[in-house]
Amino acid sequence: MNASSLIKLLSNETNLEILSVLRSGSFNPRELARILGRDETDLSRRLRAMERAGLVEGRWVRIREKNVKVYSLKVDGIEIRFEPGEVLISTSKGDRYEVPLLESRLPPIDVFVGREKEIGLISSSDKSVIVIYGIAGIGKTTLAAKLFSDAFWYQMSEGDSLDYFAWQVGLFLNTLGYNALLEYLRAGSREERDIFELVLEGIEKSSAKIVIDDLHKCRDERILHLLAFLSERLGKGKLVITSREKPNLGIENVLYLHLAGLSPEDAYSLIKAKGIDVSSKEFAEIYHITLGHPLALTLFSEAYGANKEFTRESFFDFILSEVYGKLNEDERSLLQLMSLFDEPLEYEEIRALHGKNVFSTLYSLLNKGLIERRGDYYFLHDLIRGFLSEVREVDEVKVYSKYVEFLLGRNNARDFLKAFRYAVKLKDGETIKRLVELRLRKFKRVIQDFPDAYLNILSIIKDNPYAKEELGNIYFQKGFFEKALKLWLEVKDELGGIHKADVLSSLVDVYIELNRLDESEKYLEELEKMKESMNDEEVELWYFVELTKLNFYLGKPEEALKSALNELKVVRKLGRYPEFESLVLLHVGDIYVELERYRESLTYYSQALELARAYSLSFMEHLTLFELSKAYYLLGDYKKAVEHAVRGGDYFLRVRNYRRAVDALAYRCFSYIALGELERAQNDAREMIRIAQSTGYPLGWAGYIALAAIENLRGGNFKEYLNIGREKLKEYPRLYGAVLKELGRVFEVSKILPQEG
Ligand code: ADP
Repeated sequence: MNASSLIKLLSNETNLEILSVLRSGSFNPRELARILGRDETDLSRRLRAMERAGLVEGRWVRIREKNVKVYSLKVDGIEIRFEPGEVLISTSKGDRYEVPLLESRLPPIDVFVGREKEIGLISSSDKSVIVIYGIAGIGKTTLAAKLFSDAFWYQMSEGDSLDYFAWQVGLFLNTLGYNALLEYLRAGSREERDIFELVLEGIEKSSAKIVIDDLHKCRDERILHLLAFLSERLGKGKLVITSREKPNLGIENVLYLHLAGLSPEDAYSLIKAKGIDVSSKEFAEIYHITLGHPLALTLFSEAYGANKEFTRESFFDFILSEVYGKLNEDERSLLQLMSLFDEPLEYEEIRALHGKNVFSTLYSLLNKGLIERRGDYYFLHDLIRGFLSEVREVDEVKVYSKYVEFLLGRNNARDFLKAFRYAVKLKDGETIKRLVELRLRKFKRVIQDFPDAYLNILSIIKDNPYAKEELGNIYFQKGFFEKALKLWLEVKDELGGIHKADVLSSLVDVYIELNRLDESEKYLEELEKMKESMNDEEVELWYFVELTKLNFYLGKPEEALKSALNELKVVRKLGRYPEFESLVLLHVGDIYVELERYRESLTYYSQALELARAYSLSFMEHLTLFELSKAYYLLGDYKKAVEHAVRGGDYFLRVRNYRRAVDALAYRCFSYIALGELERAQNDAREMIRIAQSTGYPLGWAGYIALAAIENLRGGNFKEYLNIGREKLKEYPRLYGAVLKELGRVFEVSKILPQEG
């Protein structure tokens, strides 16, 4: 193996991220692309390269007629160790390299002067949260980077939302060996409280350090709530925040540091380091005007020429126009272009937008202090951006349109969201319509993975009919059915084509949720007509999905089965959605359960499981394990039921999906009763009750009924348990009935029930 190509592969941050994710298991490139927010094709290429280098191992899994590639780490043969936070490479000669993960996102520092007092204060502080605040350009970021070069760097921008933020932190914590947060998010759960607790737990357990730069840009209140939550509780971990305004994060555990200008001595060293020699009289004047503001001093060094007169009021603009005047054409146009963006741009993006050879221009601007860098990202300091917005001549529309197309070419959910944000800035109805269609066809997961980020963007254009369509989809996903319904009814006659079909199928769905099946039927008929006229497989699929669901709710399982098998046919023809395919397989299994044809349901559940595993869909995998456990229970194979429920139940507890965890626990508990393992049954019953107490999920109260059965079998006093269980389930007569029915399969319930009449 060629060591230098190995090192080259390893010195690429994306590759390292891939490897660190693979550390937690085998992955299909598609799911890996989702986790990392990358294009699947690009990821596959990287994986193949790393496979050639012997770092990873791909193997083909055969699923029906198709081959699916699954990658895992292959570290045994070569001496590479993925340690928390770094990768260690040791060669046979005993050389040792350490590659810290995510380091390059730090702002690079070449010159650093002064700040001894502040450094002393921060280093000697035992507070877990450090807030550095002060005006723009005063040196907050530089100070944080100097002190916390081993921290995870999060650059806040205006479009950020809690779900996006949490995903990035989850990814980072995963590199430190804490995967619960990422796993939780991948499972599709988005409870604010859970996210808060998991972030806290992850930071504490791994003693992580996180810098949040430019907090004042944050528009999502929930991120601020999260930080306040962390501030009160952090002990081992560290949070460093820079902001222009002083955030309120409590007082107990927070060191607030207001940053002022550099001292005269340090200011002098700074301009000296920039290669400028001034007389002491001249320096006194400059210091008097700048008050040691480091960005002003840096720019001054660029603008410097003999005999310039400065006044304090217009100092900044004056200096900037001096510096600007000295730039060449190419530098100016690049600077203008970049001033259109209020978030960092990647080198590749800048190159795509600027067109020309951008490398040397970018570096010359960087050296002049006009541009800042974080790893592979570049941006203008806010003060400079403000100045440039006044002298700007570039065509905003042209640049943004080009950017939108560039981002879409990258073909991943996160860049899709970014593209959407710029399409909104363009206020271009046609582009928005096109993007929504793309979301419906290609980026289906955006609604689950980044609902809030998407919601924030859409809210800006909330009167646009396509935005209403999508807002409805997000509200529906979040369980706000009435709100979704209202929006869809408003726009249903305004839209055509795939958009109309989407709204119609959504209407069928929401009316089912609201138990207004007549309305559902009406819209399903309309959808059927569209399906026939459109000849679009996507729409055909939606139609069958809704038909299945409606038939199921109407109590027509035979009809539902027919249409579910049609779903399966279409989804396989479309061929792109393993996740959806496994869901359909699961539904087919459920319908067979309803028909009491348990053997057939096992067949379909097993196929769903196979598919979910091949594509690393962990949520689906465990959902299927649970369904399998139920089917085995119904078949009377309690050993197998327990086995499957254990794996499903543990996962759901881990990702805090308590509703599903209780479902699994209930079947496991009843299976233990059937097997006569009363001790274990009792533990599960207690766990169910505990969950009911903390979440209010009613099935958990069935734990009391189970305890009554267990006590009865032991010959003890069961009455009190039964009474509590009945009392708690009083408001849920159907659930109570279902519990007795299921328990009745393994225990003679008449032994504990009070005699009627
Ligand atoms: P802020 O984060 O407060 O907006 P920055 O940290 O980005 O400010 O600093 C603005 C500019 O001043 C940067 O170009 C940086 O290089 C320079 N600078 C800030 N502090 C120092 C310092 N202590 N020594 C040298 N240069 C500094």
